[in-house]
Amino acid sequence: MISVILKHRKEESLQRFHPWVFSGAIYRMEDEFGSEVQPEEGDWVRVVSSQGEFLALGQYQIGSIAVRIFSFDEDEFDDEFFLRRLQSAYTLRKSLGLIRADNDAYRLVHGEGDGLPGLIIDVYAHTAVMQAHTAGIHYIREALAEDLIRVAGAEIRNVYYKSETTLGYKTEARQEAEAEGSTVNGYLIIDGQPVTDAAQGRALEQSICDVAIENGLKFHVDWLKGQKTGFFVDQRENRALVEHFSRGRRVLNMFCYTGGFSFYAMRGGAELVHSVDVSKQAIGITNANVELNYPGDPRHQAFVADAFDFLKDPSRFTGDDGDSFSYDLVILDPPAFAKHKKVLHNALRGYQKLNAKALERMPSGSILFTFSCSQVVTKDDFRCAVFSAAAQVGRRVRILYQLHQPADHPINIYHPEGEYLKGLVLYVE
Ligand code: SAH
Repeated sequence: MISVILKHRKEESLQRFHPWVFSGAIYRMEDEFGSEVQPEEGDWVRVVSSQGEFLALGQYQIGSIAVRIFSFDEDEFDDEFFLRRLQSAYTLRKSLGLIRADNDAYRLVHGEGDGLPGLIIDVYAHTAVMQAHTAGIHYIREALAEDLIRVAGAEIRNVYYKSETTLGYKTEARQEAEAEGSTVNGYLIIDGQPVTDAAQGRALEQSICDVAIENGLKFHVDWLKGQKTGFFVDQRENRALVEHFSRGRRVLNMFCYTGGFSFYAMRGGAELVHSVDVSKQAIGITNANVELNYPGDPRHQAFVADAFDFLKDPSRFTGDDGDSFSYDLVILDPPAFAKHKKVLHNALRGYQKLNAKALERMPSGSILFTFSCSQVVTKDDFRCAVFSAAAQVGRRVRILYQLHQPADHPINIYHPEGEYLKGLVLYVE
């Protein structure tokens, strides 16, 4: 195995169990005979200190995060290593009470938070949707899928691999697939068995996309065409809180995607729910999901619109008289405004502008649920952007709750970067 030798004093973060080695920390990489080498993407490497002591074992990737660490103990790494990690992830979700008859949508593996850097697995009813963020995970995807069935075969019957947009564009595997005009996406397991080409074709044609259940509410999930793995399971608990506040309220679910917050608000007794998204496809799924739970319910309407245009003048879209803004519970759950540190400043201005637009027009006594899912935006950054928005439009605002990602998106305490979702529930006077 190749050894990655760190520069002097660059071992400290690994000694504190941080699971990443940045390329700038590397002094030299060498094979067993001491010759300098360049590992291939996805290669397993031993990371050693400048003094030659073993520190950790990980997968190599080209980029600023050069090695993602899987273990700090060399002896732990045997044939059952991944099976044990998956088992531990599954046991945690079981013990959290997330795998039940009235809840079969949950995140089973959350990357570093489950000791499996580069791997995301979301489960929807009997299908696990697996996403690789590194070449290393891509190369072991089939073995991982088989281990998954060994661990959770009673519930999980299919494994769909969806990594086209998450594997870096420079990744050799993705380039190869693209050169052949194909995709890396596809089923790895169907009905408990590794797939054959014929089964793959049939599954893709008929699309075995399911209906999954979250806290007793049903939703269609389309992992083939949907964003990310098909649904945002990270908002489950925050949706339940929206339900709690919805009785008698007029709810605006902005950036609704598949409409999760909307059908919770309806169950909570909302007087009216308007769902808005710029994507026509998202609005189609939202309407279908509301229909699945509340068929023909006149309280719900969905609109294809840009958030800023809608907030400026909802009546242009809803056809209501005048330009009054009558929503007294507003949800703002935009896509990540900042994917990199470089654009952090612009992202914060974006959050400020968006929240100011909503706060400006909300009636007194209303409630705002506002979120950021940008990993580079910290809790404090986000709170400051929302504070600036309130000050800008001169509203008196109190924080009722500070929200975050749920327990099936655990954060490795040595890897604070794993914390990405944050939200505030505000009372607007
Ligand atoms: N709240 C959703 C997840 C939101 S994902 C849930 O609970 O599942 C972000 C959504 O914002 C996407 O569906 C995307 O289509 C939508 N979007 C992106 N830019 C937008 C804009 N300018 N106006 C309205 N919607 C937008």
